[in-house]
Amino acid sequence: MSGVNIEGLSIKFGHNEVIKNLDLQVIEGEFLVLLGPSGCGKSTLLHSIAGLIDVSAGRIHIGGQDMTDAEPAERGIGMVFQSYALYPTMTVEKNMSFGLRVAGTPKAEIARRVAKAAEMLQLTLLLDRKPAQLSGGQRQRVAIGRALVREAGVFLFDEPLSNLDAKLRAELRRELKLLHQTLGSTMVYVTHDQVEAMTLASRIVVMKSGVIQQIGTPAEVYERPVNLFVAGFLGAPA
Ligand code: ADP
Ligand code: MG
Repeated sequence: MSGVNIEGLSIKFGHNEVIKNLDLQVIEGEFLVLLGPSGCGKSTLLHSIAGLIDVSAGRIHIGGQDMTDAEPAERGIGMVFQSYALYPTMTVEKNMSFGLRVAGTPKAEIARRVAKAAEMLQLTLLLDRKPAQLSGGQRQRVAIGRALVREAGVFLFDEPLSNLDAKLRAELRRELKLLHQTLGSTMVYVTHDQVEAMTLASRIVVMKSGVIQQIGTPAEVYERPVNLFVAGFLGAPA
């Protein structure tokens, strides 16, 4: 298990500074939700933790180690994206094990991890199916399973439920919560959905234009928003 420590992070695309001198400590084992409107830099921040983009300034520590310049595979993270492109010709089992096979993980270990993740995600009876034979919710579970088999200390989620209907979203929210309780891993979860943030988070980070506005428990940011932006986005109606 591990936390994430971000110090003085700045990310620029050309002259556009999307993340501005940002400090953030993700506590080991917490479910941290990054909440903010579209374009505020949530995905960019997540991608920088994952090592998918270069930072312009600042340091990122994961599990106490400086990972600012480390390759994604070395960072000990699992990531679930919004668009969960599964390999259409591969079974659920193969989709989930692909990354481990590429990494050269021993077969018995792969089988153990896939069985465990499949059980947690209620996919055990679907392991031989192809993605086209699955519902949207089941496909999204496979995408989560692909990250889970890495047995990482930190999981990053980028709006993983945004393509699903309201009923499925509510169901998967419950499952993600249960999963977090079972695994005890550190979760960093991006969303622009207030309900998702309020129900999942141990702490919420409210962002606007690459700057953190407030960090607190759901009750704190809801009941005591520090400014009008947070109040308008999430707070209790006055
Ligand atoms: P969010 O996930 O909160 O919707 P993003 O992190 O995707 O926001 O984007 C933040 C800003 O950075 C946006 O203005 C977006 O256009 C810009 N941006 C994101 N990725 C790139 C990129 N690869 N190149 C140039 N600009 C980008
Ligand atoms: Mg985004």
